[in-house]
Amino acid sequence: MSVPINLVVLGPPGAGKGTQAVVFAQQRGIPKISTGDILRDAVQSGTELGQRAKATMDAGGLVDDQLMIAIVRERLGRADVASGFVLDGFPRTVAQATALDEIMSGQGALAVVDIAVPDDALVARLALRRVCGQCGNTTTVAAGAEVPPCERCGGELVLRSDDTEEVVRERLRVYADATKPLVDYYSSRPTFRAVDGNQAPDAVGAALNGAVDDILRELAVSGAAAGGDR
Ligand code: ADP
Ligand code: ZN
Repeated sequence: MSVPINLVVLGPPGAGKGTQAVVFAQQRGIPKISTGDILRDAVQSGTELGQRAKATMDAGGLVDDQLMIAIVRERLGRADVASGFVLDGFPRTVAQATALDEIMSGQGALAVVDIAVPDDALVARLALRRVCGQCGNTTTVAAGAEVPPCERCGGELVLRSDDTEEVVRERLRVYADATKPLVDYYSSRPTFRAVDGNQAPDAVGAALNGAVDDILRELAVSGAAAGGDR
């Protein structure tokens, strides 16, 4: 069996993590696990988790570490992650990263790719981001133009409730405070790469694919050197 791809996609809000994670997961035939999507689904269906998370999400804050860790621990315990997974939106704090290392111990190495985008580009992007109220598809609209219907289902494209200017600023602040330290947490590992996220989606996707292949080669070499069978 080939080495599982256990990929963590890091990056600020609006870096395009979600978009890249979907495409990558599809290409490699592995599940995409997005904690933002899990939480939004819970809010939509009014579960206890959703009720607990909604106010925090709408304010741009972070949902409780222990709750998020429990969700991811359960998800990574399912059979479909045997050949790997793409994690989008988790970890978001050092406590979550430490817990993820513990969850993964004995389960294969993590590949970590940071999608780096400068702040001013993020604010501009998030202002133009719209989500389909019907199918959940995320898209970027043209500045100043009328917002078209969803190209996938014809549904109405709306601003995500946490993409308002004020909440975006708070999310960027929370990112700088709580999540950016993860780059330091992971960057000294041989399985870490940063890619330039300030380019067209296809180019970011190509860079992501290249980075992951490079990490897989690294793992194959170090695995062979260690003489291990994993
Ligand atoms: P973004 O577009 O900012 O990357 P996400 O869709 O990943 O946003 O997440 C939306 C919101 O869900 C976050 O602002 C946060 O409130 C909550 N959330 C998602 N993942 C986590 C996590 N791992 N820890 C804490 N809160 C989270
Ligand atoms: Zn749609």
